[in-house]
Amino acid sequence: MLRIDLGLVRAGAVETPGQVEPSDPLWKGTEVSLAGPLLIDGRFSSAGEGKYYWHARMAAVLRLECRRCLTPVDAPLSHDLQLVFVAEEDALDEDVGCYVIPSRAAELDLRDAVREELVLAMPRFVECSPECRGLCPECGANLNAGPCGCRPRRDPRWGAFDGLLPGRAHKD
Ligand SMILES: [Zn+2]
Ligand SMILES: [Zn+2]
Repeated sequence: MLRIDLGLVRAGAVETPGQVEPSDPLWKGTEVSLAGPLLIDGRFSSAGEGKYYWHARMAAVLRLECRRCLTPVDAPLSHDLQLVFVAEEDALDEDVGCYVIPSRAAELDLRDAVREELVLAMPRFVECSPECRGLCPECGANLNAGPCGCRPRRDPRWGAFDGLLPGRAHKD
């Protein structure tokens, strides 16, 4: 239940089990691509007048692309949420993890916070393997499948830096 009846919460904490499907319009306009439903668990509780806590855990398998060879990579993600929700009139600062509830709202949809938090928690990039050889800069072939037949040359992205980065100088 990701839609919270705030009146109910004042009487006691509520559990917040829920899931969001990969095809849900919630992900529109974001980079999020899921291999399966996002699962959420947690408790939503009152923390005094106009203030609430949501402690939750979300788990999903993200469908990302290897940044070198562009192969789809499924990346499991599990993330703890410790969020604060405050009524509009009490919102003094724009803290990270702090969400504003419109004044006099009777209900709160946690799904917007789920979207925000997932976008923040997503890895910026993944690699299919630490040894990924990437794509040939000449013909675009996936070099993990074997040599492509182009004449061997240094990767132009790194060539200019060879010798400047001690760790990389003798890697090949
Ligand atoms: Zn790769
Ligand atoms: Zn090639």
